[in-house]
Amino acid sequence: MSTAAAPFSGGLAVTTTGLTKRYGARAVVDAIDLELPRGVISGFVGPNGAGKTTTLRMLLGLIRPSAGTGEVLGHSITDPASYLARVGALIESPAFYPTISGRRNLEILAALGRHDRRRVTTLLAQVGLGDRGGDVFKSYSLGMKQRLGIAAALLPDPELLVLDEPTNGLDPAGIREVRALLRELADDGLTVLVSSHLLGEIQTICDHLVVIDAGQLRYQGAIDGLISAQTAEVVAIPEHATDLARLAAICTGAGHPGRIEDGAVHAPAPPEWAPELNRLAMRQEITLAALSVSRGTLEDAFFAITDTEGHQILAHAPETEVTA
Ligand code: ADP
Repeated sequence: MSTAAAPFSGGLAVTTTGLTKRYGARAVVDAIDLELPRGVISGFVGPNGAGKTTTLRMLLGLIRPSAGTGEVLGHSITDPASYLARVGALIESPAFYPTISGRRNLEILAALGRHDRRRVTTLLAQVGLGDRGGDVFKSYSLGMKQRLGIAAALLPDPELLVLDEPTNGLDPAGIREVRALLRELADDGLTVLVSSHLLGEIQTICDHLVVIDAGQLRYQGAIDGLISAQTAEVVAIPEHATDLARLAAICTGAGHPGRIEDGAVHAPAPPEWAPELNRLAMRQEITLAALSVSRGTLEDAFFAITDTEGHQILAHAPETEVTA
C-alpha cells in the first residue's frame, strides 16, 4: 500500500487497526488501517464490491468486525452508543413517507430521534429545500430526495457525517448541488466521509482520499500524493538517439525500469531522482538534451493501484436523473 503524509492537522476522526470482516472464508474487508483526519472531506473510493459499505457499517456499529479494532471520535467501535449521537449517517436511502411533505418527514424523524425540531427549518434551507419543504416527498427529484436524506443525517447536529454513495444516480446538476453542500458543511468544521465508486465525483469533492479494492487498503492520503506516488515519471532525452538503449539500461540498473518511447526514456521514479539520472548519464558520457518529470493523472494512478475491475471507478454518472 502507498501512503502520503496528510497535510491535515486537526487530529483524527476515525482510526482502525487491522479492521477485518469475513463472510465465510472470504475477507471482504481485509486488515484495513484507516486514519481519517477531522474537519475535512474524506473520499472512500473503490469499485463495486470493494468493501466500502461493509467498512462503513463496522464504523457505525451496525455489524461487528471479525478482527481488528477501531475508534470513531475517540471511542471504540465496540461501544457505538458512546459516539453515535455525534454521528450522522446516510447508508441506505432513509425511509421517508412518500405522501407527506419533506418538512413533515424531517419533523417525524426529529421526534423519533429526540432531536431539536427547530433545526428542521434551518436544515431544509441548508440543503437547498427551503422553498420546497412543504411539497410531498414523492414529488421530489432524486437529487432533492438525496438532499433531504442528508438533512435527515444532519438532524443530530453531528461532528461526523457518513454518506454512502450520496451521488449515486444523480445527474451532473444534482452532483454539483451535493458537492457544494458537503463543501459548506466541511467549511463549518464537520468531518465528512463519503463513499463512491465514481472517481470523478470523489476527486472534486474530497480533500483526502482512501482507496480500497478487493477489501484491501491501496492508498490513503492527499489526492496529490496519490498521483505522484503512483505515476511520477522521469523522462530523459539523450542528445544522440544512439544512446537511448544505454540510457534506459542506466535507469533499469538504478531500480527504475526504463522504457523507450517517442525518442525519450521514461522511468517510473519520484521527481527527486531526476538529478541523479543526470549524474549517472554524465558518468557514462551521455549528454542529455532534455530532462523532465511527469506526474501523471489521477486516472493513471487508479489504474496503477486497482486491478482491471478498477476501471469501473472511472465510469461517469448517468446523464439523466432517474425519478424513483
Ligand atoms: P462496496 O460498498 O464497496 O460496493 P460492500 O461492502 O457492499 O462493497 O461488499 C463487499 C463484498 O462483501 C461484496 O462482494 C458483497 O457481496 C459481500 N457482502 C456484503 N455483505 C455480505 C453479507 N451479509 N454476506 C455475505 N457477503 C456479503
